[in-house]
Amino acid sequence: MSEENSAAGAEITENDILFDCPYCEKSLTIDRSAEGLVIQCPDCGQDVEVPPYVPPEYVATDETVMMTVDDRVPVLEKALAVSQAKVQELVDNLAATQRRRQTLEKARVAQVELLETIGREMVVMQNALDRVTAAIAEQAEPGAVAD
Ligand SMILES: [Zn+2]
Repeated sequence: MSEENSAAGAEITENDILFDCPYCEKSLTIDRSAEGLVIQCPDCGQDVEVPPYVPPEYVATDETVMMTVDDRVPVLEKALAVSQAKVQELVDNLAATQRRRQTLEKARVAQVELLETIGREMVVMQNALDRVTAAIAEQAEPGAVAD
């Protein structure tokens, strides 16, 4: 079993804490000096509390992410950059969605106003037609309208 470890280049000592990320279940290895600290999982980026140190009872798999305290800074910086990029992407998407919604809302309002205008115009035209019809009828048969 320990053969596999050296093959994978992993160097797990008795001073390492082995635990699984509670969010993505990634196997994590970190120096016991990090016990009790909150770190960011290098795989899923969630804040994870390093559990209390216990002597390792199993051999880490190839997927184990080796992390020492010194390693944590670039890992955290990278995770932070990824998180910030994701936040920025979400903000951009939200802004685009809001702009689109505003555009659609404006178009909808404009359409409603147009329909109302057409409605009013039709009433005016109908009234004018009625008057024209009445005038024609009156001219054709002066007696018929005065009923
Ligand atoms: Zn994770």
